Amino acid sequence: MAKRDYYEVLGVGRDADDAQIKKAFRGLARDLHPDVNTDDPDAEERFKEAAEAYEVLSDSERRATYDAYGHEGLRGGGYQPGAQGFGSFQDIFDSLFGEGGGGAFGDIFGGGGRRGPAQGGDIGVLAEVELGEVLTGVSREVAFDAVVPCEHCHGNGAEPGTPILTCETCEGAGQVRQVTRTPFGQMMRTGNCPTCGGSGKVAETPCEVCAGAGRKREAKTYEVDIPAGIESGQQIRISGAGHEGETGARAGDLYVQVDVAEHPDFRREGRDLITVVELPVTTAILGASVPVPTLEGEEQIEVEAGAQHGDSIKLRHRGLPGISRPSRGDLHVVLKLITPVKLDEEQRELAERLDSSLGPENEPRAARSGLFERVRKAFR
Ligand SMILES: [Zn+2]
Ligand SMILES: [Zn+2]
Repeated sequence: MAKRDYYEVLGVGRDADDAQIKKAFRGLARDLHPDVNTDDPDAEERFKEAAEAYEVLSDSERRATYDAYGHEGLRGGGYQPGAQGFGSFQDIFDSLFGEGGGGAFGDIFGGGGRRGPAQGGDIGVLAEVELGEVLTGVSREVAFDAVVPCEHCHGNGAEPGTPILTCETCEGAGQVRQVTRTPFGQMMRTGNCPTCGGSGKVAETPCEVCAGAGRKREAKTYEVDIPAGIESGQQIRISGAGHEGETGARAGDLYVQVDVAEHPDFRREGRDLITVVELPVTTAILGASVPVPTLEGEEQIEVEAGAQHGDSIKLRHRGLPGISRPSRGDLHVVLKLITPVKLDEEQRELAERLDSSLGPENEPRAARSGLFERVRKAFR
């Protein structure tokens, strides 16, 4: 299906300002919350659509790209942390209406420009999970390189035992006024002090290990809880587990992008699973109890006499939970009838006798009407 226009999704004009975009999204987010829309199966998808539209249109750089090149322009560039930065609905709502307010949606509270030392960067990692783990949720250790505080100087950038002085350039303010020449004339702007990086302090003798940065690169691991019902491509944001920021600033976030491995037996359709079971024609004629795979091991199901090729048998609640809905979907067992080959003399005779004994009364009703319907359509 073609992607809808982001402005259309949020119901705002192309000239809408940030406040209008924010207001439109907040309204939609409240209306479409999956918890209040348990009987609307489309709410979840529409919510995701709105969240994605908001993420792009609330970011002036990405909005400009979208305005100029459309959806195509936002593609490419590979995997971008935060590009679809939502792990769970709760996650989104916490950042929207709840505490914290950091991350991709943090700016909904306003807040304005950054002041002071720079925040740490975000990190993106991949985590692969099995389909069976989607059923229960799983804890997975992810490994990545991150900037961490320097242990030698405890992150303050000064060689232990040496003083930390007030920055002379900014006199401890961390900010300096800079005059920039632009085509529109001189612009005055306030920026971080180039000497101290915004902290207002400098080490008299920089730390030997980190050369005064207060931070260094290190291999790290993180035990991430992947919730039941997660889908391929969804991300989990772990606030503050990214790169360490400059002294006094918050760390970046860790985005774990989940990839659900293909399963040889099951295809996933939302919360439902589909599996195909092969059955000899003769077994389908007679009916039988046959074993079928489920995520929790083999289970016997009853196939009624006269089952047809392509029939599907539903095992309720043997599918997967949704990320926002704990109740499980169904497992659909599709029958694939197979014809026995290499018959010996006796088997062939039996088959011939059965074949010649069959009359119109043995034809399944559905198959007959289906055939007539197809013939009628072909001649129309
Ligand atoms: Zn150090
Ligand atoms: Zn300074």
